[in-house]
Amino acid sequence: MNCDELQGHYELYVLGLAEEEESREIRQHLDRGCEVCMRELGSARELAAMVGGTAVMAAPPPALRRRILASVGVEARRLGWWAPVWGVAGITALSVAVFVALFFRGREVDLAQQLVDSREQVRNQTIELTRLTEAFAIMNGPDTTEASFGKGPQQPPKGRVFVNPAQGVLLIASNLPPAPNGKTYEMWLLPKRGMPMPAGLFQSQTDGTALYVRRGTVNVNGTNAVAVTLENAAGAPQPTVQPLIVAALPSNS
Ligand SMILES: [Zn+2]
Repeated sequence: MNCDELQGHYELYVLGLAEEEESREIRQHLDRGCEVCMRELGSARELAAMVGGTAVMAAPPPALRRRILASVGVEARRLGWWAPVWGVAGITALSVAVFVALFFRGREVDLAQQLVDSREQVRNQTIELTRLTEAFAIMNGPDTTEASFGKGPQQPPKGRVFVNPAQGVLLIASNLPPAPNGKTYEMWLLPKRGMPMPAGLFQSQTDGTALYVRRGTVNVNGTNAVAVTLENAAGAPQPTVQPLIVAALPSNS
């Protein structure tokens, strides 16, 4: 296994959650002084320390690990990856830590720096963690439906939506450049019958990633898809342009 193939597993390794095969590979890389792996593991450790203060030492349930990894583009290669040993239910702060670690991969140094820099930013990070916890409630719900979007050959916005009937909708996207001045992204629920329903305004990060949570109940069975359009800053009661994102939910009867 080369270092590229180990991407996404360093954080799990640090948290003691990596699978045996990946753990062994990482140890071998370290034993032969692999600089890439030492660096990756260093930042994984830093981040784990940063978010680990509130961590509950329990493993995330298997479906959740799969979803976390899938949401950041790391696919599990084998079924054995989510062995029953992880059968602990419930959201844990540690799950959030793993998610934060993976979602913000590449930005971890900045985040750590911000935390050290000022109280204001610590407060912002706390808000961010709260938002991620909400995101988790949706991602982790046993009755959550998920759908992916953006599989085209160009570089369309891509990512995943998670829709939970009681908790709401979570959208995770990349390749979504920040909306220009005076514009905003607007999310829509496309019902099986009737007009699109506005589901809130959001902005993406400068690196083109977005994580948006729309809280509230959702009639999942009555919903065909989740869509996103670019609208004027105030938002619109109905879409005015073609959607940039359409995530069709798995057909439900
Ligand atoms: Zn390596």
